[in-house]
Amino acid sequence: MTEKFDAIIIGTGQAGPSLAARMTQEGMKAAIIERKLFGGTCVNVGCIPTKTLVASARLAYMARRGEEFGVVIDGDINIDMKKVKARKDGVVERSNQGVTNWMKNMDNLTVFEGHGRLESANTVRVNGALLEAGKIVLNVGGRARVPDIPGIGEVDYLTNSSMMEMDSLPEHLIIIGGSYIGLEFAQMYRRFGSRVTVVEMGDRLIARDDPDISDAVKDILENEGIDIRLNATCVGFEKRGDQVAVTADCGPGPEEIVGSHLLLAIGRVPNTDDLGLQAAGVETDERGFINVDDQLATNVAGIWAIGDVNGKGAFTHTSYNDYEILAANMFDGDPRRISDRFTAYGLFIDPPLGRVGMTEREIRQSGRKALVGKMMMERVGRARERSETQGFMKIYVDAETDRILGAALLGIGGDEIIHTLIDVMYADAPYTVIQRAMHIHPTVSELIPTLLASLEPLE
Ligand SMILES: Cc1cc2nc3c(=O)[nH]c(=O)nc-3n(C[C@H](O)[C@H](O)[C@H](O)COP(=O)(O)OP(=O)(O)OC[C@H]3O[C@@H](n4cnc5c(N)ncnc54)[C@H](O)[C@@H]3O)c2cc1C
Repeated sequence: MTEKFDAIIIGTGQAGPSLAARMTQEGMKAAIIERKLFGGTCVNVGCIPTKTLVASARLAYMARRGEEFGVVIDGDINIDMKKVKARKDGVVERSNQGVTNWMKNMDNLTVFEGHGRLESANTVRVNGALLEAGKIVLNVGGRARVPDIPGIGEVDYLTNSSMMEMDSLPEHLIIIGGSYIGLEFAQMYRRFGSRVTVVEMGDRLIARDDPDISDAVKDILENEGIDIRLNATCVGFEKRGDQVAVTADCGPGPEEIVGSHLLLAIGRVPNTDDLGLQAAGVETDERGFINVDDQLATNVAGIWAIGDVNGKGAFTHTSYNDYEILAANMFDGDPRRISDRFTAYGLFIDPPLGRVGMTEREIRQSGRKALVGKMMMERVGRARERSETQGFMKIYVDAETDRILGAALLGIGGDEIIHTLIDVMYADAPYTVIQRAMHIHPTVSELIPTLLASLEPLE
């Protein structure tokens, strides 16, 4: 027997639950399917737990610096990883329960706990039941990529998900991958007290950003004693008793790195291999991400893909923004589009990086005339007062339109202050609006107008 709905949502990531709420408010009878944990990656094994752990790690770091600030802590600073994990679990549990209860108590919504698979363009199989709807929305997200690296079958490895079960301190954590996820874990575990080595295949960290940011991030991490191996073109693993040996170069180079734990942080793959896309005729790109148009429609009428699975963003805010765009198009007659949004993200090491818009490389490639302003965090009073002067801020402006093209704020508060720029960009206002604004002293934000007053042509 087929159960009929107006809409079926597969996955309860950062977009599906809000869409379910909107659909049911609009009087639709909807179904939502979750095969694992309500709230998906961000809530359970992504943003929320990692940032909770980052907070513990920062406290450990600052406690060790107490003496510098005249704060005397008699005795050693010790980390109780069981308590660190318990605190993290508590924060996650609250969010996970929030989404679970929200879904299970929503009027007009039927929750299915199981694996959903498309059987045609308007039917989905879950737990043996066949569901039918004219509208199907895929919010299935992704998971850690585990590539076929030589020796991978021989060794134990961790991913962002299994890291969440750690309640003891690795003696030496080797992290493969020098991008966002890897670097956040690297600093956090170094601060907890592990020896940490980051092995990156490319010639710099966080390669999507400009080289000056990569270099500054590398300095920040190395200053805390993290070993960073770049240009690891030939990674391989070998078991050594209960340890793991990692080779990084094929040619003659520094010897292999032997550690107690191995974390793979080399990208994400979409959860589309077992979704029945072929049965429905939904097309993907060569990496398995679902192709969508500017309003999130797939090539099959009545099927949309939102969140990480469409490859148009890999963040909680892009997934949620996908929901807003889809809901606006579906219910409000408001033709919002993905291309309306600016790229924006944070790297939550300490100090954090807040990013918006184009990189310098992209600006140069676009051939625009641009202005640039750059300021070291050492110039910022707030940073000096807090003895946290690492990093810099830089902003690019279009020389003809006065619009902000992009910015990178690497320094204390960078992840928050970037929103000043983001909002002006969405307002489509010239940079002079911020330059002439009176900001509060003593903050990091007060230096943004000063920085904008110092723009020079980008040579
Ligand atoms: C370690 C880490 C840290 C991160 N930190 C940040 C951060 O600080 N800021 C930020 O913006 N982003 C961060 N992200 C990214 C962020 O977690 C994702 O972008 C976000 O979760 C959006 O995902 P989503 O909505 O596409 O789906 P997801 O959250 O991935 O959820 C998809 C859900 O679908 C379910 N599912 C999949 N297939 C099926 C199926 N066939 N049937 C039923 N259910 C299915 C899954 O079980 C899952 O619950 C981080 C990610 C990781 C891994």
